[in-house]
Amino acid sequence: MSVTQQSLLDAMDGVAMLLDHELRIKQIGEPNWARFRNDNSPQDPGGLERPAARVLGRPVTEFIAGDTVRATFADLFKSVLNGARSIVQLDFRCDAPALRRDMRLAVRPVKTDGQVRHLLYQSITLRVQQRPALPLFGTPVVDQDNDDILTLCAICARVAWPIGAPTGEREWIEPAEYYRRDGSDIALISHGFCEDCFAHIQDED
Ligand SMILES: [Zn+2]
Repeated sequence: MSVTQQSLLDAMDGVAMLLDHELRIKQIGEPNWARFRNDNSPQDPGGLERPAARVLGRPVTEFIAGDTVRATFADLFKSVLNGARSIVQLDFRCDAPALRRDMRLAVRPVKTDGQVRHLLYQSITLRVQQRPALPLFGTPVVDQDNDDILTLCAICARVAWPIGAPTGEREWIEPAEYYRRDGSDIALISHGFCEDCFAHIQDED
């Protein structure tokens, strides 16, 4: 009896996926994928409701909201494929309204015949804490960048304040602080990077 690639992915912590050279999802660890999509509907309602079989063959970047976030992650992942980086590892927040969720994403090269042809993408939950509900974490996220609506940093989950202010004239505040400043409930949010997180990602090696 041999250990298969699928059985290894199934045994891994968190959401584990094998990506091909175009960042397409080739295989997914099944048990945790099912649990993850049940946990995580608010951040990507369209993407994560799908059974694993329905996401196979699609680029993992399709499930990342925000043009800048999507393009930056695609560049990071490709830098592991082409050998410019040995790994991408980032801690980020993926909250639900009443849960603070600290996550870690790691993307590592997988070699075939000495060449990096695939990536192992693994997203694990480091810590989950209950907290008073912050409705903005249940708000649907638009696919594109949009500075006119509330923008949430995809890494640290701070939000740009005031809404609609140009870059350089906005500060990034904790979501709880948004409500303390009488920020109202909103219909849609966008994902981006605060300046601190963007600088950190560029330095990450
Ligand atoms: Zn940030």
